[in-house]
Amino acid sequence: MAQVRQTMAATGTDVLALSVGSDLPWLIGYEAMPLERLTMLVVPIDAPPTLVIPGLEAPRVVTHDGLFEIRPWGETEDPVAIAAGLIGSALSVAVGDQMWSRFLVDLQHQAPGVSWSRASTVTAPLRAVKDQAEIDRLAAAAAGVDRVAAALQGGEIPLIGRTEAEVSAELGQRILAEGHATVNFAIVASGANAASPHHHAGAKVIKAGEVVLCDFGGTTDEPHGEPGYCSDITRCVYTGEPPAEFAEAYAALHESQQQGVAAATVGTRAGAVDGVSRKILEDANLGEWFIHRLGHGIGVEAHEDPYLVESNDQPLVAGNAFSIEPGFYIPEKWGARLEDIVVATDDGPRALNQADHHLAIVEA
Ligand code: ZN
Ligand code: ZN
Ligand code: ZN
Repeated sequence: MAQVRQTMAATGTDVLALSVGSDLPWLIGYEAMPLERLTMLVVPIDAPPTLVIPGLEAPRVVTHDGLFEIRPWGETEDPVAIAAGLIGSALSVAVGDQMWSRFLVDLQHQAPGVSWSRASTVTAPLRAVKDQAEIDRLAAAAAGVDRVAAALQGGEIPLIGRTEAEVSAELGQRILAEGHATVNFAIVASGANAASPHHHAGAKVIKAGEVVLCDFGGTTDEPHGEPGYCSDITRCVYTGEPPAEFAEAYAALHESQQQGVAAATVGTRAGAVDGVSRKILEDANLGEWFIHRLGHGIGVEAHEDPYLVESNDQPLVAGNAFSIEPGFYIPEKWGARLEDIVVATDDGPRALNQADHHLAIVEA
């Protein structure tokens, strides 16, 4: 909260207003229920923060020894008027990027004369730099999905003859069993479907002699009043001996991923890390099939700052946590991706995921 206030001052923000979205749990450990009743934390730069919350949801809140006050509202009250009253005569208000328009539009009517901006101008730079407790949670999340990946690579999760959707469901069950509260995604893409980076696992039956790309993650289950942190990992297996052409391409992908991790040092331009991994795939004639950025930041949200994309000129700083996930996607043929979560530290890049990086052969 102190850092938020400092950043509000530096950006000329009088009030921060957070609702549905990930800034709220990041700051106070409480996630607004995504329903029609307004929940809004109003943080004036010069007054105590107040959480405006439906009375029936107030018992869910942990106030962290007076970090903020609670203003429960009853069913016949107008919560937007309460929030507008807390905003008062503020001139500049930053609202959570994921706040619903039904709340913001109503608030704009009741607080005329305010200049509006996105809360991420205040929160994103702070969220992008993880402290030790956050890194510990990301590491625990990574260790959990590493064990799921090891089960996949070891053939404990049968593939041949099952649908992608069935395998996706089993990955999800295992993610929950590893201490996650939610499954955020469990992509299972086999054969030519692996050429679609965000393929939706479906009714296709996995056959022998195919690549199976699995990209999965969730959000950790933390004590009441504490935010969960995300995991995200991709591993590919082959249901049989891969053709030489695929094995060679995968070897280049492996090299690209490892060099990308090694390049992610403090002070390196984020876009330059993308360039290191991309060059290796280009040299292997796979560059045209690497159709996305190298990685994304990760924290309470699965995708957040910093983004490892060529156009990002920001240097990495200690505490940045992000994915390194090069891939190649050849339409109607096959595809592959290899992904770890990495933290930039003063002692060099620290890969949180340790699951084996080679192409595992699973004949089950
Ligand atoms: Zn993705
Ligand atoms: Zn992923
Ligand atoms: Zn990712």
